[in-house]
This record gives sequence, C-alpha cells and structure tokens, in this order.
Amino acid sequence: MPLGTCLNYLFMAYDYDVLIIGAGSAGLSAALTLGRCLRRVLVADGGPPRNEQSPGVHGFLTRDGIRPAELLRLGHEQLQPYETVTVQCLHIDKLSKEGRGFRAIGHGTGDDALTTVTARRVLLATGVSDILPPLPGFRELWGRGVLHCPYCHGWEVRGQPLAVYGQGRTVTGLALLVSRWSHDVVVVTNGPGHLTPNARRRLRRQKIGIREAPIARLIGTPGRELRCIQFEDGNELERAALFLHAPQHQRTPLAADLGARLTSKGAVWVDSGLQTSIPGVYAAGDTRPGTQQALLAAADGNRAAIVINESLTREECPR
Ligand SMILES: Cc1cc2nc3c(=O)[nH]c(=O)nc-3n(C[C@H](O)[C@H](O)[C@H](O)COP(=O)(O)OP(=O)(O)OC[C@H]3O[C@@H](n4cnc5c(N)ncnc54)[C@H](O)[C@@H]3O)c2cc1C
Repeated sequence: MPLGTCLNYLFMAYDYDVLIIGAGSAGLSAALTLGRCLRRVLVADGGPPRNEQSPGVHGFLTRDGIRPAELLRLGHEQLQPYETVTVQCLHIDKLSKEGRGFRAIGHGTGDDALTTVTARRVLLATGVSDILPPLPGFRELWGRGVLHCPYCHGWEVRGQPLAVYGQGRTVTGLALLVSRWSHDVVVVTNGPGHLTPNARRRLRRQKIGIREAPIARLIGTPGRELRCIQFEDGNELERAALFLHAPQHQRTPLAADLGARLTSKGAVWVDSGLQTSIPGVYAAGDTRPGTQQALLAAADGNRAAIVINESLTREECPR
C-alpha cells in the first residue's frame, strides 16, 4: 500500500480529527475555525458556561452587553454551514491516550449511556469554576450584585457606593482598581483583614474605607442586585455592588488525570502554541493561565485551532 494511503487509513481510524471539550467562547470559536479547515470535529457540550448567571457579556466587540446564552446561541448557529463539525450534549468524564491520538468517554445529559469517541487531537476548552465565600447572599447575587471583574462590570456600577471583599494583598489591589470606577469604595474583610500598614496607607490615600467586622449576610433585591451588607453586630452598609477575586478550580480534572502539568494556581500549563505538557492536547480560554475574558477566550480558540490544523497538516504531509 502506498505511504499516503496507509497514512490516510491511520488517520481515518479515529472518529474525529479534533475533539473539542467545552462549548463556551473558546470551544465554539475553535470549532468554527476548524470547520473552515474541513476538519472532522466533535464539540462536547457539557453544560452552561462560567458566566451563566450574568445578565450580559461586556467588552466583546460588536456584542457588548449580549446575554451569555445568546452569545453562545449565535456561536452554535454560525457552525451550521460546516458539515464536518458536530456538536453533541456530552460531558467528557475520562480521557486517555489511544495510539497517536486519544480516547474519550462521556455521558449525555439526561441519560447514563456512555459514549466513546477517538480523536487525533484534543482541545480542552473546559473553563473554570469560581469558589464563592460560604456566606448567605454571595451565591444568590453572583453575576449581578456580586461581581468578579471591574473590566466586565465596572461601567455598569460606576459612581455608585461599592464594596470590595477579601483580605491581604488581593483585596488591596482590587480595591485600588475598583476605585477608578467610583469614589465611594469600602473594603470589607469579614474578620481580620491582614492588611499591612503600607496597604492601609495606600487605601486611605484613595479614600477607601476598611470594615473588618465579620459579615452575617448580603441582602439583595428581587432582581439580584445588592442592597446592603449586614454585619454580625447588626450594622448594615448600603452598597450597590460588591467585587471580589474568588479562588478558582478547573471545571474538570481531565488535564490533571491525564498527567498534564498545572501551574501553581491550578491553571493548565501551555506552551506558546497552546499545547499542554501532553503532546496532542491543547488548552484555550479560562482553563489556561492568563487574563480571563470572553473575547480573549474566543481569540484563544481561534489560535488553538490554527495551531492544531497545522500540526495535523505536518503529520499528513511527511517530508
Ligand atoms: C459572573 C461572570 C460574569 C462575567 N462577565 C464577563 C463579561 O462581561 N465580559 C467578559 O469578557 N468576560 C466575562 N466573564 C468571564 C467569561 O465568562 C470567561 O472568560 C469565558 O466564559 C471563558 O470562556 P471559556 O470558553 O474558556 O469557558 P466557559 O465559557 O466557562 O466554557 C467552558 C465550557 O466547558 C464545559 N465543560 C466543562 N467541563 C466539561 C467536560 N468535562 N465535558 C464537556 N464540557 C465541559 C462547560 O460546561 C462550559 O460550557 C464573566 C465571568 C463570570 C463568572
């Protein structure tokens, strides 16, 4: 058998050229570019994106303020012309090596039947989850009265009384940043703030207040906006919104289970070509280190798709 035919046979032995795990901005954008490269792609859509509870995606050129679900609906719609791309409601539970490629096992929503797929390359576009303080009101107001990022939501609450939650260096940096959007900012630390004298001085200079009393709960409006912060001593502080840098974890342990290197902060390490430490497995969007924004995740998906297509092309066109 000629070498070319033999190689084609090897490639076609895999169900797909690329398995994209995750159908958020990163995953759908990668699927679009790979579809345009005529690649056989499966997008495993395992559920809602990280910003599901937010009323709008801000700072996304041409789509500023669009509802998160609508952004993704448009993404799905624009994949329709690309016949080699399949999107399936599928949560991937296990990923392993299979020859020169990979085998993934997952389950659909609403049934326990397992699906197995093989692919020559894998793109992890699985995102992260935010770990919110276990205090009443944080989870309920998340995305509306409790906000993670002033670049995403600062403009909507500009000039209003704001709070910044947290301790130590993290809260200091975030409070100084948020004070660019409002002159009325108070740091709430829920107990000892672990603020150095220098941090206190820097906050004071920007007229940022500090409240170290333990917090009982956040009280919101029926529309999930923040009304006030109630402290354990019964005092209340009226605020229009509260910002915090929540710790995060990967939405899925697939990368770690496969033995991929993680950073000290738990992000999936990638090289300059978005390849993880496992050859053939790539990562894009929030799941890898760096600034987390929907537009950047979409750009990342596009970049990963190009890198993957070129790696497949090199394999198909040996010297
Ligand atoms: C409350 C909130 C508001 C935000 N607002 C903005 C904003 O205004 N502007 C902005 O630019 N950014 C905003 N962001 C950040 C933005 O949401 C993220 O940067 C963006 O969603 C990252 O896209 P992604 O594709 O990497 O991850 P995601 O959008 O989180 O998508 C990952 C997808 O992978 C799926 N998945 C995970 N594990 C599996 C698995 N095992 N199998 C199959 N599928 C799986 C998930 O269900 C999810 O659909 C906000 C974030 C939050 C939390």
